[in-house]
Amino acid sequence: MSNRDPRYDVLFEPVKIGPVTAKNRFYQVPHCNGGGYRDPSAAAEMRRVKAEGGWGVIFTEQTEMHHSSEIAPYIELRLWDDDDLPILAKMADAVHEHGALAGTELTYAGVNGPNLYTREVPLAPSAMPIRTYTADPVSARAMTKKDIRDLRRWHRNACLRARTAGYDLICLYAAHGHGVFQHFLSTATNHRNDEYGGSLENRTRLLREVIEECRDAVGDSCAITLRLSLVEAIGELGFSNSEVRDLIEMHAELPDLWDLAHGTWADCSAPSRFGEEAAQRDLIEGIRELTPKPVVGVGRFTSPDVMLAQINSGTLDLIGCARPSIADPFLPRKIDEGRVEDIRECIGCNICISGDMTMSISRCTQNPTFMEEWRKGWHPEKFEPLGDSDTLLVVGAGPAGLEAARVAGMRGYDVVLAEATTGLGGRVARERKLPGLAAWGRVADYREYQLSQMANVDFYLVNELSADDILAFGADNVALATGSSWRADGVSRHHVVPIADDGSLPLYTPDDLMAGKLPAGRIVIFDDDHYYMGGVLAELLAGTGCEVTLVTPSAYVSAWTNNTLEQASIHARLLELGVEIELNRAVGRIDGGRVITECVYSGRAAELAADAIVMVASRSGNDALWRELERRESEWAANGIRTVRLIGDAEAPAPIAWATYAGHRYARELDGPDIGDALPFRREVTRLIDD
Ligand code: ADP
Ligand code: SF4
Repeated sequence: MSNRDPRYDVLFEPVKIGPVTAKNRFYQVPHCNGGGYRDPSAAAEMRRVKAEGGWGVIFTEQTEMHHSSEIAPYIELRLWDDDDLPILAKMADAVHEHGALAGTELTYAGVNGPNLYTREVPLAPSAMPIRTYTADPVSARAMTKKDIRDLRRWHRNACLRARTAGYDLICLYAAHGHGVFQHFLSTATNHRNDEYGGSLENRTRLLREVIEECRDAVGDSCAITLRLSLVEAIGELGFSNSEVRDLIEMHAELPDLWDLAHGTWADCSAPSRFGEEAAQRDLIEGIRELTPKPVVGVGRFTSPDVMLAQINSGTLDLIGCARPSIADPFLPRKIDEGRVEDIRECIGCNICISGDMTMSISRCTQNPTFMEEWRKGWHPEKFEPLGDSDTLLVVGAGPAGLEAARVAGMRGYDVVLAEATTGLGGRVARERKLPGLAAWGRVADYREYQLSQMANVDFYLVNELSADDILAFGADNVALATGSSWRADGVSRHHVVPIADDGSLPLYTPDDLMAGKLPAGRIVIFDDDHYYMGGVLAELLAGTGCEVTLVTPSAYVSAWTNNTLEQASIHARLLELGVEIELNRAVGRIDGGRVITECVYSGRAAELAADAIVMVASRSGNDALWRELERRESEWAANGIRTVRLIGDAEAPAPIAWATYAGHRYARELDGPDIGDALPFRREVTRLIDD
């Protein structure tokens, strides 16, 4: 029975979308997961769990609707012919089990599809080089009238297939620069001078024709929705927010629903460092008054009150969520059950997106079960009861220790969480104070609250345990989540042995800065870590009035953040702050009060005057305690200890998501069977065809 606060009733009202009705206003917009056609059962189970968690509408990721346009090497879904139907049907059936509507997003990538796999010549409104993240060296040719007729027929066929696979909603992708309809709508990519180019009416023609024909084919049972970018800012060119409004006004009833997405994918999935909750407010306000059809929009919505304000102010009809539904698949159900404080809020780190960008499989910092629902059988809200042993001592309350304690607590173990410092969170307690990273504190806050609700979990704060303490404590199991420390010697990728340093300059590590020990004057930051820390510290120091030069051996500032869609924003912000950026250079040595840099290609040296250097190199696991306990393994049994394990950054430093995963996995597998050399997850293997 629902215990929800009646204020939130409006979020649970049904919404009619064309011929179908969503049971509530929680709308999971299409999102990638890095699994796609390679891991279909993993993706289907991930969506099923969200349906169980109460989402009214659940979409697939983008589905390549014809083989003449695909985005290999990225792994999405395909609907090229009937062979793809079982994969698509599995997901639709899974979400129907719990009363959600199933949607699929048909994508014809046009000028965004290099066709590296199918080797077809890409087709686009106008002939131009392919526009991808990797600037693939191929071009699209301009579509002929026959191509346009073909494209219309392919959409009709894809709709019929989507219906056969069981889908209730079919979305046409015209957003993020990724779908052909946007390429036709935009003056940046449509330079045609026939009836498909020029005026907005002409640029809308293909969209109109396709929607009408799709509706004719499947409109009696499927809703046809349109995912449209709210703005495409390319100077004078592009599809502007006012044109979006003109289009919606001119064709107010064209799709059964308007799914409005902030500009590029990086805008739409803005990390918390660069975009707050409901960030697309100004772009969307007033649009709902232009159309009688329902409007959905996104904005990393995690707060039910913000969601409510979107509905009550008449801005949106449905609350669109991708990341919030990943971080907490049970978000709607928690609101419905009056458990708002149990919502696991997305922190806006975009690690989930990195799984797609690296073509691996997505993971989530907050929800370690994401994409492991089928592979490992992990349900985000259900846990096996405890096994043979009863007690667990977790040493270290960073992300790994907190998650291990939470999951073991849920399983029923008696858990003690010991932490050397005065508070919980480990690295997150420190990093949340850095510029733009406040929302990352949710990793600690969520877990702290959950642990505080469990009678079987105790905290021992300000308790730095020694090996003797741990042996004397005598828990059945000990998890050492003792974290990591930044190295001061510059060892990372460029230097695999310490940098030559005559000690003539004050040297700081990120740990020093986070402890409040701040340098002043002319500062060189050497970033050979390549994730966020170098850029964040440049921002921190520029903010305190330092003259900052960031030196990196990479061709990009914070290079790995290309995978979290932040790189361009980070570079732009550092430029705004006046940070000097030296790319493709490394700090070679520190000598006589000077920093000597070298070009990574030619070795050519240059001198940088500096008052101090900040070394953002790599981290070492704090594993001294583990090594001592390992050495004293013969004493474990006499002290009642069965197992001791090193987890998280202490074992191998990595992003926070790796630590929550390590903690989760440790606690899930505690007292589990020994699987020997077997694969620790399920996977699907390509089917062979007999010739
Ligand atoms: P991870 O990301 O793996 O969770 P963190 O560095 O965030 O690692 O957290 C490690 C935590 O462990 C820190 O809060 C640190 O204070 C704590 N810690 C390290 N050694 C000990 C110890 N011997 N006893 C108790 N706490 C410890
Ligand atoms: Fe949110 Fe980060 Fe999880 Fe993505 S990985 S859903 S951004 S917490």
